[in-house]
Amino acid sequence: MAFYKQTCIRCNALIDGDSSFCPKCGSKSPFADRCFSCFKEISRDDKICSGCGRNLNITCPHCGQSTFMQDKCEKCKADLMIVCPNRRCGAFQFFDAVKCSACGKKLPQKR
Ligand SMILES: [Zn+2]
Ligand SMILES: [Zn+2]
Ligand SMILES: [Zn+2]
Ligand SMILES: [Zn+2]
Repeated sequence: MAFYKQTCIRCNALIDGDSSFCPKCGSKSPFADRCFSCFKEISRDDKICSGCGRNLNITCPHCGQSTFMQDKCEKCKADLMIVCPNRRCGAFQFFDAVKCSACGKKLPQKR
């Protein structure tokens, strides 16, 4: 059974509706903005996540400017996601996550 195609909100490519990332632009949340801590859908006007209460305006570790919580910095386009170091997991995590939301392994903290 074919899945409906949906439009990636980042690059407007038509991709399978069950994709967990966009094969065109590499976005890890191609259909909606999601909180990377609790995966609740968030809107760009939100200041804090309605699911977990975390601040959705973060400071980019690369350019130091404030950006909305998304997989790439709005200002310098740097990747804000890190890959879980657990080789059997490899889930993408937001750079400031303390532990992996998929396997629970502690993530390296760089300051
Ligand atoms: Zn895309
Ligand atoms: Zn949240
Ligand atoms: Zn930046
Ligand atoms: Zn993991």
